[in-house]
Amino acid sequence: MENKIRVRFAPSPTGYLHVGGLRTALYNFLFARKNNGKFILRIEDTDRNRYVEGAVENLIKALKWSGLDYDEGPDIGGDYGPYMQSQRLDIYKKYADELIASGNAYYCFCTQERLQQLREEQEKLKVPQMKYDKHCLTLTQEEIQKRLNEKIPFVIRLNVQPNQKIIFDDVVRKRVEFDSSNIDDQVLIKSDGYPTYHLANVIDDHLMEISHVIRGEEWLSSTPKHVILYDAFGWQRPIFAHLPLLLNPDKSKLSKRQGDVAVEDYRDKGYLKEALINFVALLGWNAGDDKEFYQMNELIEAFSLESVNKSGAVFDIVKLNSLNAEHLRHKSDKEILLLLKEEIKKSDLAQKNLSDDYLLLVISAMKERVTFVSEFITNCKYFYEEPKEYEQKSIEKNWKSDTAEHLNKLIDEFSKLENSQKVDFESALNKVAEELEISKGKLIHPLRLAVSGQSTGPGMFDLLFILGKDEVIKRIQKAIEKIKI
Ligand code: GLU
Repeated sequence: MENKIRVRFAPSPTGYLHVGGLRTALYNFLFARKNNGKFILRIEDTDRNRYVEGAVENLIKALKWSGLDYDEGPDIGGDYGPYMQSQRLDIYKKYADELIASGNAYYCFCTQERLQQLREEQEKLKVPQMKYDKHCLTLTQEEIQKRLNEKIPFVIRLNVQPNQKIIFDDVVRKRVEFDSSNIDDQVLIKSDGYPTYHLANVIDDHLMEISHVIRGEEWLSSTPKHVILYDAFGWQRPIFAHLPLLLNPDKSKLSKRQGDVAVEDYRDKGYLKEALINFVALLGWNAGDDKEFYQMNELIEAFSLESVNKSGAVFDIVKLNSLNAEHLRHKSDKEILLLLKEEIKKSDLAQKNLSDDYLLLVISAMKERVTFVSEFITNCKYFYEEPKEYEQKSIEKNWKSDTAEHLNKLIDEFSKLENSQKVDFESALNKVAEELEISKGKLIHPLRLAVSGQSTGPGMFDLLFILGKDEVIKRIQKAIEKIKI
């Protein structure tokens, strides 16, 4: 049997991809992949006032970066195109005419002034939501024709029948009910000839044979209008699933003011796409267990619309960071090497000739200690240059009057090394500790400070091995000269 699961991500191009949009796109993608369906990208660009140059390209770039490849879309085509609403105007016009003919829509010639007056009157009466008063519904056929001939600007409105219960099922919210008396006679075609979101969305979802409409909760209140349209056309409704709102930690709606909301911002800050996807997947969904670490294929496997939650999902950056660290650790050293080299190109290390072998050593030493790829540089500068300063706290704690003497002994012993593997450094240090009859700690702490300038970092002998015998000796000598107590 032909597979009929078809879902779409239908963004309006605002200039960037919002993380909420990424979540919507991801859930659609996961649902399609899980069910062997098709995932479609449709650009809803009928609001000419909101047109932003380059916005569609940015969106496509962000989706591609995230790994959400679609099966049909504006740049790749498909059997149901065009996939840009601005290229489908004649289609909307034809269906709007059909609605007029069936009495489900009507021409409205009211001026802005009249609408404003109506608004003010209704405000005075404390009507909660401004509603058009169906004034133009009473125009006769002749009156309408006359106005059309005179080229008086018009819109086309939905003719909503009052006192009806609009009921639909939503996979997430279950049974949803609206009273049609609260629904405005929505404009379907604007005076510039463009359709509104509602009309274009319904027509396209029908013509593109969309089986499931998966979108953010902010569209829930538009759904009764859509349902009225489906019924007016006599079309089968798709299955609806409205995803919970994204919230700031203070439970307010996720907004630009409180932090980054664009996928591009996170990408530019160095978040891995795997981590961002994993994080966004958990904003409103879990498989019913405690599992939090997911790769894309595992998400596809585990995802279901039925396990999407109803309540708002808090955007917790701490969790995103820890997922980033975890995804980084799951990458092979070779994969990290490629990412690190990109990072190096952008840094002041670009001119240094760092070999892949050397960087791989740094990666294996630091992998468990970083959250971002950039921290293979910033958290361990000492792998690339000798320390410029030494952590004061550690000097106070670990640098004693006899430290220089102890370290000189270490220099002697290190100089004698023919091999300088980790074990060689380790036995040399053990030997010195024994001879001096002091604990190893008394050597290790100042030694770390001398070679790295810091009090924490990877294993001591890893550090010595990576830096190499000559560099280690040089740094100890320098520290003895520079650190004064
Ligand atoms: N164009 C709407 C948006 O920008 C699409 C909403 C929907 O998926 O129906 O999100």
